[in-house]
Amino acid sequence: MAAHQGQEDRHTFYAGKPQPSSDSPGQFSSTDPSTAKPVCTIHTSSPASITAAIQSAQDAFPSWSSTPPLDRARILQRAVSLLRARNDELARIETLDTGKPFSETSAVDIVTGADVLEYFANLIAGGGLNGESIRLRPSAWVYTAKEPLGVCAGIGAWNYPIQIALWKSAPCLAAGNCMVYKPSEFTPLHAQYLAAIYKEAGVPDGVFNVVYGAGDVGAQLTSHPAIAKVSFTGQVSTGEKVAGSAAGGMKYVTMELGGKSPLVVLPDADVNQAADGALLANFYSSGQVCTNGTRVFVPKTMKQEFEQTVLEKIRFVRAGDLFDMNTNFGPLNSKVHYDKVVGMVKQGIEKDKATLLCGGTAQPRGLPGGLKDGYWIEPTVFTDCTDDMTIVKEEIFGPVMSILTYDTVDEVVRRANNTEHGLAAGVFGRDVNECHTVISKLQAGITWINTWGESPAEMAVGGWKQSGVGVENGKRGLEAWVRNKSTLVEMGGEVPTVFSKL
Ligand code: NAD
Repeated sequence: MAAHQGQEDRHTFYAGKPQPSSDSPGQFSSTDPSTAKPVCTIHTSSPASITAAIQSAQDAFPSWSSTPPLDRARILQRAVSLLRARNDELARIETLDTGKPFSETSAVDIVTGADVLEYFANLIAGGGLNGESIRLRPSAWVYTAKEPLGVCAGIGAWNYPIQIALWKSAPCLAAGNCMVYKPSEFTPLHAQYLAAIYKEAGVPDGVFNVVYGAGDVGAQLTSHPAIAKVSFTGQVSTGEKVAGSAAGGMKYVTMELGGKSPLVVLPDADVNQAADGALLANFYSSGQVCTNGTRVFVPKTMKQEFEQTVLEKIRFVRAGDLFDMNTNFGPLNSKVHYDKVVGMVKQGIEKDKATLLCGGTAQPRGLPGGLKDGYWIEPTVFTDCTDDMTIVKEEIFGPVMSILTYDTVDEVVRRANNTEHGLAAGVFGRDVNECHTVISKLQAGITWINTWGESPAEMAVGGWKQSGVGVENGKRGLEAWVRNKSTLVEMGGEVPTVFSKL
């Protein structure tokens, strides 16, 4: 198959370069979701290529892990500069691969990835990998060291491709580990660009490697005995398989999984602000954000005003040419995902019998002709929803908001927590004390008060309950990529005399 739109074929990347091989078990296409046209051909990594990529990382580990943190930090800072200098070029790639508008990818996806790389480079330069020293008694003390884990696997989802790759590789490499990274088969384009940027910045060959393919390729990584840790982002059901496989070798895991997060509008909230929050929490990235606030709880007395405000604001959700800076709403990422989301909207209308306030399964009105074959769906709002509806219980991962009403704050806290997920939660209200009180009762790892979605490098993020294990980012994010060694030093010259005297 020929390359499309200037994108050359992708091959397994290890030992510092793409490695075409004749034993690739197959190939697949990356597709532009706005048009459904193929963009690039990707050659699936063969078992031998995967082994070679892991070997390349093993070969690079002794030198990289013993490179002083300050030197590693300088190299990673150069990668930050390259990412920022090439922001728009990389954003165009992400738009082509994900279907997210360029107005979004150019402002967020590379920026938030580069910020995290800069944060971890600064953290290790500033002593973030130092251990502690504990004085036990005048003659004895303990010191601890943070040691890298070895060769780690990063497995990404398709919604924030380069950001996920950076959120995993930044602390991994900063801590002195090497990585074999597998992007989602739906959004593989960024991986080779990132590998090339690391190389250009001075990251030694073999420290960052890329394998391509679907779940079977991921499973070869998670079950490989040379892999010390698996950092995974994806669905809960896949996460269970990945964690199960990793448990076989007692590997470390970080699991960043799905959610069904509650957004609670308190009775004293500014309706305008809360509606803005609800739109952001449901339609940004066309709803393909793990922390989406899809269960929007409003007081019964506020229902009508809230719905009216949402309807007024939804006019400003603009689908269209993804490279028009006025466009702020794109298609769904793939045909498979489009079918799933359309199925859930039909479920809401036909089986759950929720009230369709706006939207549905049609394409957004006014789409340019060339985009008619893309995976577009209107921003959709259901109201009169109840807790037992499928659309309220299951992650949809699309632009579908469910409005639910409540009478008392105790009731809304109980209902908000009535889910197996625990990724994110948020509260809107004027009484900040009340907001803190409600937030403290919500079972979620990532929470917001009077805002939604911002996830800066300094903020550790990770899900509770079935939404995940461990965190990414913040100081705690580095701890997930090291293991501790404690050493007790006895300076008195005496070993306990248990066996040398009567
Ligand atoms: P997915 O679980 O289908 O796939 C994720 C990755 O796992 C892909 O690279 C896939 O090829 C790979 N994979 C599939 N089976 C595997 C196996 N058996 N072993 C190893 N790897 C395997 O998820 P998705 O559809 O790509 O992503 C959407 C999901 O990701 C949503 O549920 C979303 O909430 C979640 N997500 C979570 C976060 C977070 O930080 N918590 C961030 C982004 C997305």
